[in-house]
Amino acid sequence: MSPKGMSGKVQTVLGPIEPDRLGITLTHEHLLIDLRCYFLMPEEASKRYYVDKPLTMDMLGVAWRGFFSMKDQEVLLDEKAATEEVLKYRHAGGQSLVDTTSIGIARDPLALARISRAAGLNIIMGGSHYVPVAHPKDMDKRSEEEIATQIINDVTVGVGDTGVKTGVIGEIGNFYPLSENEKKVLRASAYAQKRTGAPILVHPGIHPKAILEIMDILTKAGADPRHVIMGHLDPIRPMSAIKELAQSGCFVEYDRFGSEDSSFDYDIGEARSDPVNDVQRMESLEYLISEGLGDRIVIAHDVCTKADTTRHGGKGYAHILENIVPRMRKRGFTQKQLDAILIHNPAKALAFA
Ligand SMILES: [Zn+2]
Repeated sequence: MSPKGMSGKVQTVLGPIEPDRLGITLTHEHLLIDLRCYFLMPEEASKRYYVDKPLTMDMLGVAWRGFFSMKDQEVLLDEKAATEEVLKYRHAGGQSLVDTTSIGIARDPLALARISRAAGLNIIMGGSHYVPVAHPKDMDKRSEEEIATQIINDVTVGVGDTGVKTGVIGEIGNFYPLSENEKKVLRASAYAQKRTGAPILVHPGIHPKAILEIMDILTKAGADPRHVIMGHLDPIRPMSAIKELAQSGCFVEYDRFGSEDSSFDYDIGEARSDPVNDVQRMESLEYLISEGLGDRIVIAHDVCTKADTTRHGGKGYAHILENIVPRMRKRGFTQKQLDAILIHNPAKALAFA
Protein backbone atom coordinates (compact mmCIF):
# COMPACT_ATOMS: atom_id res chain seq x y z
CA MET A 1 0.00 0.00 0.00
CA SER A 2 1.57 3.27 -1.10
CA PRO A 3 1.18 6.58 0.70
CA LYS A 4 -1.74 8.46 -0.80
CA GLY A 5 -1.21 8.93 -4.54
CA MET A 6 2.35 7.54 -4.66
CA SER A 7 1.55 4.25 -6.45
CA GLY A 8 3.27 4.23 -9.85
CA LYS A 9 5.20 7.43 -9.06
CA VAL A 10 8.83 8.11 -8.18
CA GLN A 11 9.65 10.11 -5.05
CA THR A 12 12.47 12.62 -5.53
CA VAL A 13 13.91 14.96 -2.91
CA LEU A 14 11.77 17.73 -4.47
CA GLY A 15 8.58 15.67 -4.52
CA PRO A 16 6.84 12.95 -6.54
CA ILE A 17 7.18 12.74 -10.33
CA GLU A 18 5.97 10.42 -13.07
CA PRO A 19 8.59 7.74 -13.90
CA ASP A 20 8.69 8.79 -17.56
CA ARG A 21 10.17 12.11 -16.46
CA LEU A 22 13.30 10.47 -15.07
CA GLY A 23 15.12 10.02 -18.40
CA ILE A 24 18.67 8.68 -18.13
CA THR A 25 19.08 7.46 -14.55
CA LEU A 26 21.95 6.07 -12.48
CA THR A 27 20.53 3.89 -9.70
CA HIS A 28 23.44 3.90 -7.24
CA GLU A 29 25.59 6.94 -6.51
CA HIS A 30 26.70 8.98 -3.51
CA LEU A 31 26.96 12.76 -3.80
CA LEU A 32 27.82 13.13 -0.12
CA ILE A 33 28.93 10.32 2.16
CA ASP A 34 31.09 9.44 5.15
CA LEU A 35 32.51 5.92 5.00
CA ARG A 36 34.87 6.29 7.94
CA CYS A 37 32.85 3.48 9.55
CA TYR A 38 35.28 1.26 7.61
CA PHE A 39 38.38 2.94 9.03
CA LEU A 40 40.96 0.61 10.57
CA MET A 41 44.15 1.94 12.15
CA PRO A 42 47.05 0.23 10.36
CA GLU A 43 49.86 -1.19 12.45
CA GLU A 44 52.70 -0.07 10.20
CA ALA A 45 54.19 3.43 10.52
CA SER A 46 54.49 3.82 6.74
CA LYS A 47 50.72 3.31 6.44
CA ARG A 48 49.88 5.50 9.46
CA TYR A 49 51.63 8.28 7.58
CA TYR A 50 48.57 8.49 5.31
CA VAL A 51 45.82 8.19 7.94
CA ASP A 52 44.97 11.88 8.33
CA LYS A 53 46.56 13.30 5.17
CA PRO A 54 44.30 15.09 2.69
CA LEU A 55 44.22 13.08 -0.53
CA THR A 56 46.73 14.60 -2.92
CA MET A 57 48.08 13.69 -6.34
CA ASP A 58 51.04 11.74 -4.96
CA MET A 59 48.66 9.48 -2.96
CA LEU A 60 46.28 8.51 -5.77
CA GLY A 61 48.29 5.40 -6.59
CA VAL A 62 47.77 4.00 -3.09
CA ALA A 63 44.30 5.44 -2.44
CA TRP A 64 42.50 2.18 -3.18
CA ARG A 65 44.92 -0.24 -1.64
CA GLY A 66 44.80 1.99 1.42
CA PHE A 67 41.03 2.60 1.43
CA PHE A 68 40.49 1.18 4.92
CA SER A 69 43.20 3.35 6.51
CA MET A 70 42.98 6.70 4.69
CA LYS A 71 40.28 8.87 6.24
CA ASP A 72 40.16 11.51 3.51
CA GLN A 73 39.64 8.84 0.85
CA GLU A 74 36.57 7.68 2.81
CA VAL A 75 34.60 10.95 2.74
CA LEU A 76 32.72 13.15 0.27
CA LEU A 77 31.60 16.09 2.40
CA ASP A 78 31.95 19.10 0.08
CA GLU A 79 28.54 20.13 -1.30
CA LYS A 80 29.98 22.59 -3.80
CA ALA A 81 32.40 19.97 -5.17
CA ALA A 82 29.55 17.44 -5.37
CA THR A 83 27.44 19.89 -7.38
CA GLU A 84 30.30 20.55 -9.81
CA GLU A 85 31.05 16.85 -10.17
CA VAL A 86 27.44 15.90 -10.86
CA LEU A 87 26.99 18.74 -13.35
CA LYS A 88 29.38 16.80 -15.62
CA TYR A 89 26.76 14.03 -15.64
CA ARG A 90 24.01 16.56 -16.40
CA HIS A 91 26.05 18.02 -19.25
CA ALA A 92 26.60 14.52 -20.65
CA GLY A 93 22.81 14.01 -20.81
CA GLY A 94 22.06 12.47 -17.42
CA GLN A 95 18.80 13.56 -15.84
CA SER A 96 18.36 11.56 -12.63
CA LEU A 97 20.22 9.58 -10.04
CA VAL A 98 19.65 7.69 -6.82
CA ASP A 99 21.77 8.85 -3.89
CA THR A 100 21.92 5.64 -1.87
CA THR A 101 23.57 7.18 1.19
CA SER A 102 21.55 5.60 3.98
CA ILE A 103 21.25 6.14 7.74
CA GLY A 104 24.56 6.43 9.61
CA ILE A 105 26.84 7.50 6.75
CA ALA A 106 26.08 11.24 6.73
CA ARG A 107 22.86 11.31 4.73
CA ASP A 108 21.96 14.98 4.15
CA PRO A 109 18.41 15.52 2.83
CA LEU A 110 18.54 19.32 2.56
CA ALA A 111 21.93 19.29 0.82
CA LEU A 112 20.56 16.79 -1.70
CA ALA A 113 17.58 19.09 -2.30
CA ARG A 114 19.95 22.02 -2.86
CA ILE A 115 22.12 20.03 -5.28
CA SER A 116 18.98 18.87 -7.09
CA ARG A 117 17.87 22.48 -7.63
CA ALA A 118 21.36 23.76 -8.46
CA ALA A 119 22.09 21.02 -11.00
CA GLY A 120 18.56 20.62 -12.41
CA LEU A 121 18.81 16.95 -11.56
CA ASN A 122 16.21 14.54 -10.18
CA ILE A 123 17.66 13.00 -7.04
CA ILE A 124 16.04 10.05 -5.30
CA MET A 125 17.26 9.73 -1.71
CA GLY A 126 17.92 6.45 0.07
CA GLY A 127 17.06 5.36 3.57
CA SER A 128 17.55 2.23 5.64
CA HIS A 129 20.62 1.01 7.50
CA TYR A 130 24.06 0.50 5.97
CA VAL A 131 26.56 -2.25 6.91
CA PRO A 132 26.88 -3.35 10.57
CA VAL A 133 29.92 -1.14 11.28
CA ALA A 134 27.66 1.85 10.52
CA HIS A 135 24.72 0.67 12.64
CA PRO A 136 23.63 2.80 15.61
CA LYS A 137 25.23 1.66 18.88
CA ASP A 138 21.93 0.38 20.29
CA MET A 139 21.06 -1.75 17.23
CA ASP A 140 21.11 -4.97 19.32
CA LYS A 141 18.23 -3.58 21.39
CA ARG A 142 16.18 -2.06 18.56
CA SER A 143 13.13 -4.04 17.56
CA GLU A 144 12.22 -4.76 13.97
CA GLU A 145 9.18 -2.57 14.49
CA GLU A 146 11.26 0.41 15.68
CA ILE A 147 13.58 0.07 12.68
CA ALA A 148 10.63 -0.14 10.31
CA THR A 149 8.91 2.86 11.88
CA GLN A 150 11.90 5.09 11.15
CA ILE A 151 12.19 3.85 7.54
CA ILE A 152 8.45 4.33 6.95
CA ASN A 153 8.55 7.79 8.49
CA ASP A 154 11.41 8.80 6.18
CA VAL A 155 9.32 7.75 3.17
CA THR A 156 5.97 9.18 4.22
CA VAL A 157 6.79 12.25 6.36
CA GLY A 158 10.42 12.98 5.59
CA VAL A 159 13.76 12.71 7.39
CA GLY A 160 13.69 14.46 10.78
CA ASP A 161 12.10 17.87 10.39
CA THR A 162 13.39 18.46 6.83
CA GLY A 163 10.23 17.43 4.99
CA VAL A 164 12.51 15.73 2.43
CA LYS A 165 11.31 12.18 1.79
CA THR A 166 13.20 9.06 0.81
CA GLY A 167 12.31 7.40 -2.49
CA VAL A 168 14.25 4.19 -1.99
CA ILE A 169 14.63 1.90 1.03
CA GLY A 170 18.39 1.41 0.92
CA GLU A 171 21.11 0.92 0.40
CA ILE A 172 20.58 -1.79 2.98
CA GLY A 173 24.16 -2.77 3.84
CA ASN A 174 25.18 -6.35 4.50
CA PHE A 175 28.34 -8.34 5.09
CA TYR A 176 28.47 -12.12 4.67
CA PRO A 177 27.59 -14.18 6.55
CA LEU A 178 24.60 -12.16 7.79
CA SER A 179 24.30 -11.23 11.47
CA GLU A 180 21.02 -11.18 13.39
CA ASN A 181 20.96 -7.37 13.22
CA GLU A 182 21.35 -7.41 9.45
CA LYS A 183 18.50 -9.91 9.13
CA LYS A 184 16.38 -7.67 11.37
CA VAL A 185 17.07 -4.66 9.14
CA LEU A 186 16.21 -6.67 6.02
CA ARG A 187 12.89 -7.81 7.50
CA ALA A 188 12.08 -4.29 8.74
CA SER A 189 12.87 -2.92 5.27
CA ALA A 190 10.59 -5.50 3.65
CA TYR A 191 7.81 -4.53 6.07
CA ALA A 192 8.41 -0.84 5.28
CA GLN A 193 8.02 -1.65 1.60
CA LYS A 194 4.73 -3.42 2.26
CA ARG A 195 3.49 -0.32 4.06
CA THR A 196 4.80 2.31 1.64
CA GLY A 197 5.33 0.65 -1.77
CA ALA A 198 8.83 2.16 -1.92
CA PRO A 199 11.49 0.20 -3.82
CA ILE A 200 14.27 -1.60 -1.91
CA LEU A 201 17.96 -1.38 -2.81
CA VAL A 202 20.49 -3.81 -1.32
CA HIS A 203 24.26 -3.75 -0.83
CA PRO A 204 24.96 -7.47 -0.34
CA GLY A 205 28.07 -9.18 0.96
CA ILE A 206 30.11 -10.13 -2.09
CA HIS A 207 29.25 -13.81 -2.21
CA PRO A 208 26.95 -15.79 -4.55
CA LYS A 209 25.12 -17.29 -1.56
CA ALA A 210 24.58 -13.84 -0.01
CA ILE A 211 22.43 -12.46 -2.82
CA LEU A 212 20.08 -15.45 -2.87
CA GLU A 213 19.82 -15.61 0.92
CA ILE A 214 19.02 -11.88 1.15
CA MET A 215 16.38 -12.18 -1.55
CA ASP A 216 14.85 -15.09 0.34
CA ILE A 217 14.71 -13.13 3.63
CA LEU A 218 13.17 -10.11 1.90
CA THR A 219 10.47 -12.07 0.07
CA LYS A 220 9.59 -14.15 3.14
CA ALA A 221 9.13 -10.88 5.04
CA GLY A 222 6.73 -9.64 2.37
CA ALA A 223 8.89 -7.68 -0.10
CA ASP A 224 7.93 -7.84 -3.76
CA PRO A 225 11.01 -8.89 -5.80
CA ARG A 226 9.80 -6.77 -8.72
CA HIS A 227 10.49 -3.74 -6.51
CA VAL A 228 13.93 -4.80 -5.32
CA ILE A 229 17.29 -3.74 -6.77
CA MET A 230 20.23 -5.99 -5.85
CA GLY A 231 23.41 -3.93 -6.05
CA HIS A 232 27.15 -4.57 -6.30
CA LEU A 233 26.85 -7.65 -8.51
CA ASP A 234 29.91 -6.72 -10.59
CA PRO A 235 32.40 -9.19 -9.03
CA ILE A 236 29.96 -11.95 -8.11
CA ARG A 237 30.48 -15.28 -9.84
CA PRO A 238 29.23 -17.69 -11.05
CA MET A 239 26.92 -15.83 -13.45
CA SER A 240 24.36 -18.62 -12.95
CA ALA A 241 23.75 -17.14 -9.46
CA ILE A 242 22.97 -13.75 -11.02
CA LYS A 243 20.66 -15.42 -13.52
CA GLU A 244 18.85 -17.25 -10.72
CA LEU A 245 18.56 -13.99 -8.79
CA ALA A 246 17.20 -12.06 -11.78
CA GLN A 247 14.64 -14.78 -12.42
CA SER A 248 13.07 -13.92 -9.05
CA GLY A 249 11.89 -10.75 -10.80
CA CYS A 250 14.26 -8.29 -9.11
CA PHE A 251 16.54 -5.78 -10.80
CA VAL A 252 20.24 -6.61 -11.02
CA GLU A 253 22.61 -3.70 -10.59
CA TYR A 254 26.13 -3.38 -12.02
CA ASP A 255 27.07 -0.28 -10.13
CA ARG A 256 30.84 0.16 -10.03
CA PHE A 257 31.51 1.22 -13.64
CA GLY A 258 34.76 3.19 -13.72
CA SER A 259 36.26 1.34 -10.77
CA GLU A 260 39.08 -0.85 -12.06
CA ASP A 261 41.80 -0.51 -9.46
CA SER A 262 43.49 -3.90 -9.33
CA SER A 263 45.20 -3.07 -6.02
CA PHE A 264 41.92 -3.01 -4.06
CA ASP A 265 41.48 -6.18 -2.06
CA TYR A 266 37.90 -6.48 -0.83
CA ASP A 267 38.02 -9.04 1.95
CA ILE A 268 35.37 -8.88 4.66
CA GLY A 269 34.13 -11.95 6.52
CA GLU A 270 33.59 -14.79 4.05
CA ALA A 271 33.08 -12.27 1.27
CA ARG A 272 36.12 -11.60 -0.75
CA SER A 273 36.52 -10.71 -4.40
CA ASP A 274 39.10 -9.81 -6.95
CA PRO A 275 38.51 -6.42 -8.55
CA VAL A 276 36.72 -6.53 -11.88
CA ASN A 277 36.96 -4.09 -14.77
CA ASP A 278 34.51 -2.43 -17.16
CA VAL A 279 35.07 -5.04 -19.90
CA GLN A 280 33.99 -7.78 -17.50
CA ARG A 281 30.98 -5.65 -16.51
CA MET A 282 29.94 -5.29 -20.15
CA GLU A 283 30.43 -9.02 -20.68
CA SER A 284 28.12 -9.69 -17.72
CA LEU A 285 25.45 -7.41 -19.21
CA GLU A 286 25.80 -9.19 -22.58
CA TYR A 287 25.36 -12.54 -20.86
CA LEU A 288 22.23 -11.38 -19.03
CA ILE A 289 20.75 -9.94 -22.24
CA SER A 290 21.46 -13.23 -24.05
CA GLU A 291 19.54 -14.98 -21.27
CA GLY A 292 16.51 -12.77 -21.90
CA LEU A 293 17.10 -10.63 -18.80
CA GLY A 294 17.83 -7.28 -20.49
CA ASP A 295 14.78 -5.77 -18.82
CA ARG A 296 16.24 -6.44 -15.34
CA ILE A 297 19.54 -4.55 -15.66
CA VAL A 298 20.37 -1.17 -14.08
CA ILE A 299 23.81 0.44 -13.89
CA ALA A 300 25.79 3.13 -12.04
CA HIS A 301 29.26 4.10 -10.79
CA ASP A 302 28.67 4.08 -7.00
CA VAL A 303 30.95 7.10 -6.63
CA CYS A 304 31.66 6.88 -2.89
CA THR A 305 35.28 7.82 -2.30
CA LYS A 306 37.37 10.85 -3.10
CA ALA A 307 39.45 8.91 -5.63
CA ASP A 308 36.21 8.17 -7.54
CA THR A 309 35.71 11.87 -8.30
CA THR A 310 37.21 13.49 -11.39
CA ARG A 311 39.06 16.12 -9.35
CA HIS A 312 40.98 13.30 -7.69
CA GLY A 313 41.75 11.29 -10.78
CA GLY A 314 38.57 9.18 -10.79
CA LYS A 315 35.96 8.66 -13.49
CA GLY A 316 33.14 10.55 -11.76
CA TYR A 317 29.42 10.44 -12.52
CA ALA A 318 29.63 10.93 -16.32
CA HIS A 319 31.90 7.98 -17.14
CA ILE A 320 29.10 5.66 -18.29
CA LEU A 321 27.62 8.25 -20.65
CA GLU A 322 30.94 9.60 -21.91
CA ASN A 323 33.02 6.43 -22.18
CA ILE A 324 31.01 3.26 -21.66
CA VAL A 325 27.91 3.86 -23.81
CA PRO A 326 30.05 4.49 -26.95
CA ARG A 327 31.96 1.27 -26.23
CA MET A 328 28.71 -0.60 -25.66
CA ARG A 329 27.51 0.56 -29.08
CA LYS A 330 30.74 -0.70 -30.67
CA ARG A 331 30.28 -4.04 -28.94
CA GLY A 332 26.81 -4.40 -30.49
CA PHE A 333 24.40 -3.18 -27.81
CA THR A 334 21.34 -1.82 -29.66
CA GLN A 335 19.77 1.56 -28.89
CA LYS A 336 16.75 -0.31 -27.56
CA GLN A 337 18.94 -2.27 -25.14
CA LEU A 338 20.74 0.90 -24.03
CA ASP A 339 17.45 2.73 -23.49
CA ALA A 340 16.21 -0.19 -21.39
CA ILE A 341 19.31 -0.15 -19.18
CA LEU A 342 19.59 3.62 -18.82
CA ILE A 343 15.97 4.83 -18.94
CA HIS A 344 13.16 2.27 -18.87
CA ASN A 345 14.48 -0.26 -16.34
CA PRO A 346 15.33 2.42 -13.74
CA ALA A 347 11.91 4.00 -14.24
CA LYS A 348 10.25 0.67 -13.49
CA ALA A 349 12.61 -0.12 -10.62
CA LEU A 350 12.08 3.23 -8.88
CA ALA A 351 8.30 3.51 -9.21
CA PHE A 352 6.35 2.83 -6.02
CA ALA A 353 4.22 -0.35 -5.99
ZN1 LIG B 1 26.78 2.54 -2.37
